[in-house]
Amino acid sequence: MDQEKKLKILFVSSEVSPFAKTGGLADVAGSLPLALVEMGHDVRIAMPKYKFVDCPMETRFDFPVLIADRKETAIIRESHLEAKVGDFYQKVPVYFVDNYQYFDRDSLYCFFDEAERFAFFCRAVIEMLPGLDFKPDVIHCNDWQTGPISVLLKEQYAIIPFYQNIATLLTVHNLHYQGNYPKDCLELLGLTEEYFHPDKLEFFGEVSYLKAGLVYADIINTVSKTYAQEIQTPEYGERMDGLMRKRSHDLYGIVNGIHYCEFDPLTDSCIMTNFDHQSVEKKKENKYALQKTMHLPVGDMPMVGLVSRLVDQKGLDLLEEIFGEFVKNDVQFVVLGSGDKRYENFFKDMAKRHPEKVAAYIGFNAPLAQQIYAGCDMFLMPSRFEPCGLGQLISLRYGTIPIVRATGGLADTVTNYDPVTKKGNGFVFKAYIAGNLLNAIQRALSVYGGETDQWTDLVRGALQSDISWSVSAKEYIKLYHIAMKKKMKMIRSA
Ligand code: ADP
Repeated sequence: MDQEKKLKILFVSSEVSPFAKTGGLADVAGSLPLALVEMGHDVRIAMPKYKFVDCPMETRFDFPVLIADRKETAIIRESHLEAKVGDFYQKVPVYFVDNYQYFDRDSLYCFFDEAERFAFFCRAVIEMLPGLDFKPDVIHCNDWQTGPISVLLKEQYAIIPFYQNIATLLTVHNLHYQGNYPKDCLELLGLTEEYFHPDKLEFFGEVSYLKAGLVYADIINTVSKTYAQEIQTPEYGERMDGLMRKRSHDLYGIVNGIHYCEFDPLTDSCIMTNFDHQSVEKKKENKYALQKTMHLPVGDMPMVGLVSRLVDQKGLDLLEEIFGEFVKNDVQFVVLGSGDKRYENFFKDMAKRHPEKVAAYIGFNAPLAQQIYAGCDMFLMPSRFEPCGLGQLISLRYGTIPIVRATGGLADTVTNYDPVTKKGNGFVFKAYIAGNLLNAIQRALSVYGGETDQWTDLVRGALQSDISWSVSAKEYIKLYHIAMKKKMKMIRSA
């Protein structure tokens, strides 16, 4: 197959930055398509039109979508993603699937009718294509919300010539979130009882939207090589490890990149002082500004940051365990996040108890996140598991040294710093033990407090590292070709 061929890709995601974001999926969906367009491919994005998305958009058309025995209206609206690359603006068309009943709500997820909302979204995405006169070579699906697309395409639409040779790729950004619903949601998807089978959509007595994608997509991948291996084991497999091993020949790992224009310490308008590897000394102006914003004493003590969903996955129980010891150091700690009440209350409590050292902002705040990435010296990610992790990539981009547990994408992107050889870009621990996290923090603090040049070199090295999409976007192109080849083979043998 011609690897130079310009591909037509439909990228489908339930969240896309800057329109709607709860985590790393939005960052990927808002940046990978731009990197692919930059390579000359025709990429379009599809996502739900949530209530709070208020960018200018053009209404294209509407059509009825069958959900169980009812018809619901899908309205397709169009806007675009834009980024300045060099002297040019790259644009990616974004198709918003609108339906007031399903998406005109204050937040993205966790509603009683989740199975119905995303059954509607998946079917609408497939059915909007002829109206757009866009026949993709590959539909690139992401996470459970888009899982049903592959099964619907193969089992219901393949008889229509337009859809016959569209290949599918499913990217798993987090295997923990599976979209499992009672058996009767098969009706919403227009699938018969026959699909309630362990080889199809049945998953421990329920129907799994993620499994629908994992079984029926031509090719599957996850967001780092290590996580692609880990999820084939019972420890990380979230009860899907058997299926992962079964599909291991079709399972790939591609590490995420970040958008170099969106996350650029030299141009970022959210931070106090812009800087790069040639002006490392300016970075500390951002620390002073952050200290003021967070009502902490202003000074040169090391500052550790954490920006995260506050959930068990992120290894926060380890931090809880060692927090008392950690704050005995001459250090400041800033956390931005929301999630489980247990962790929200813990950090609020710590901020009250140690007002000179700890500051907590509970909530979602994108500009403050940038200020933390830019202002801190170190960034914590002691995750129990981490498919890829964007926090450590963004922090490296801002010269903030990550302290991480070696799992998933953290293991693939952060290497332990050795003060003797001066190799490594962060501080890494392996076993999920609180003492190991404390040890990694102490090692970082000791390098910070040692020779100034050593820490500055570490920061400069981080600022110079390439964590853009340049390598990984090419890997995705290869994967699209593999998916297309597999699809063609299947059609020929049918
Ligand atoms: P996950 O996808 O598991 O949430 P990632 O590290 O892959 O974790 O991506 C998290 C993304 O969400 C990063 O861009 C991070 O900066 C951002 N983020 C997480 N929590 C917040 C918050 N409370 N406010 C602003 N940005 C946040």
